[in-house]
Amino acid sequence: MQGTTIFTTMSALAQEHNAINLGQGFPDFPMSPVLTEAVNHAMRSGYNQYAPMAGWLPLREVLAEKIDYLYGQSVHPDTEITITPGGTYAIYTALTSILSPGDEVLVLEPAYDSYVPNILANHAKPVLISLNQPHFSIPWEKINAAVNSKTRAIIINTPHNPSGTIWSAADMQKLQQLVVTNKLYVISDEVYEHLVYDGETHQSVLRYPDLFQRSFACFSFGKTFHCTGWKIGYCVAPKELMQGFRKIHQYNCFSVHTPSQVGITEYLKDRSSYLELASFLQEKRDYFIELMRLTRFNLLPSKGSYFCCAGYEQISELPDLDFALHLTREHGVATIPVSAFYQDAQPSPYIRFCFAKKKETLEAAVEKLRKV
Ligand code: GLN
Repeated sequence: MQGTTIFTTMSALAQEHNAINLGQGFPDFPMSPVLTEAVNHAMRSGYNQYAPMAGWLPLREVLAEKIDYLYGQSVHPDTEITITPGGTYAIYTALTSILSPGDEVLVLEPAYDSYVPNILANHAKPVLISLNQPHFSIPWEKINAAVNSKTRAIIINTPHNPSGTIWSAADMQKLQQLVVTNKLYVISDEVYEHLVYDGETHQSVLRYPDLFQRSFACFSFGKTFHCTGWKIGYCVAPKELMQGFRKIHQYNCFSVHTPSQVGITEYLKDRSSYLELASFLQEKRDYFIELMRLTRFNLLPSKGSYFCCAGYEQISELPDLDFALHLTREHGVATIPVSAFYQDAQPSPYIRFCFAKKKETLEAAVEKLRKV
């Protein structure tokens, strides 16, 4: 396991050098005042004691409605949804609820940096499979070949951090077949579910009934509502799987901040709270792409998430970590080296930019990047 996450390292370095932080994935624009007011109102109205272990029931009900509306899946708010302190916690708890020592879990790299430590903490074995280059498509042959009698689960992530690629309906069909045939479980990291661009559809495991029967879908309100510091999210899984999840959750966290849950419930009743997110962030992505034309970086396509990767072969031959450190120290722009999303520490030819920033921030960053 790496000692310190790359997000902490790069954000600290950005601060030290007073650099513009396009590294760690968090927005620098304000969240909705309607939502902060709803949470304030909940506090003033006395919603300040423990919420139920599984979450504030009206929130779970409004989420069940949203899931039915968006993905056509009927989930039971009582037994199939649990509110969690963030998406990362939901992923850890789901893994812990199904893994025994010696189990294998398929992880597609580049992978968000918590997955492998979460698997190792359960004395299970991560089986690392690289996504296809250059555009990070899904290597189905390699995945099918990696399955054996010890394989317990696969972790998927769409929209994908760090590449910004998204899974297609055909990928989901292949996944469903793999999972059903081999009786695997799926941990589906869908924290960027609402950030899918160009009119494409988010491929949630919740759209596929047979897949859902074997899945834990993990979501984040922080990513959805531009409040990553709130650390609140949820997990959706069929009843039998959710029972195991809650056994872990009840002794680990027990329950999540009540006024946030009450406020988010009110806010979610207005569908525009999530339906307008994609166009809002797509505008930022498009603006960033347009500005970056003035630089020597080669952006890869980004179809979703907060992120866009870029090659820098016209600029430097440094390994990506060294290049990202150099960019922060000498040019005042922090990014994330994509090799941090691989276990074998091979340098990758890409760095990751977060475009979920104010226009002025993107302009100021690109002004610096033009000189690189
Ligand atoms: N998910 C965010 C990212 O990928 C940050 C998470 C974190 O800082 N741990 O940048």
